[in-house]
Amino acid sequence: MGKRGTEIIKVNATELVKKLNKAFADEWLAYYQYWIGAQVAKGPMKESIIAELNQHAADELRHSQMLSTRIVQLGGTPILEPKDWYVHTNCGYSAPTDPHVKKLLEQNIDGERCAINIYQELIDFTKDKDILTYDIAQQILADEVEHEDDLENLLEDINLI
Ligand code: FE
Ligand code: FE
Ligand code: MG
Repeated sequence: MGKRGTEIIKVNATELVKKLNKAFADEWLAYYQYWIGAQVAKGPMKESIIAELNQHAADELRHSQMLSTRIVQLGGTPILEPKDWYVHTNCGYSAPTDPHVKKLLEQNIDGERCAINIYQELIDFTKDKDILTYDIAQQILADEVEHEDDLENLLEDINLI
């Protein structure tokens, strides 16, 4: 990043890049969990649930892009090895070994709740200290809050069948 762009950041850049890379690992794993879940899903309301899972997968991929752009701007390197996603993830990965839509929704709701916690922490960490990362975390948080709500509503509908 440029000289003045670096000077205005009031957090430790190395520590910030580390946090962003952990979130970046989460996003790739979340992307794959949604994407593969949509491939194998079985059960009631399958079509609408698959559509939602695919939309969320696209959002998670976009989040990983937003994070990597900022990591590079901060002089860091986004995680280069997929196997390191497992090393750095906060929220982990839940394989859809049971493809029932209800189970998929429950696993992804857990993931969204973890993501909400992580972005709230990133917001607290950067507030009044790094406005640009703060803005990115805030935009992603809004999506994760919407994701949790969407999935909870689908689960509620399934439980009413
Ligand atoms: Fe995300
Ligand atoms: Fe999400
Ligand atoms: Mg949605």
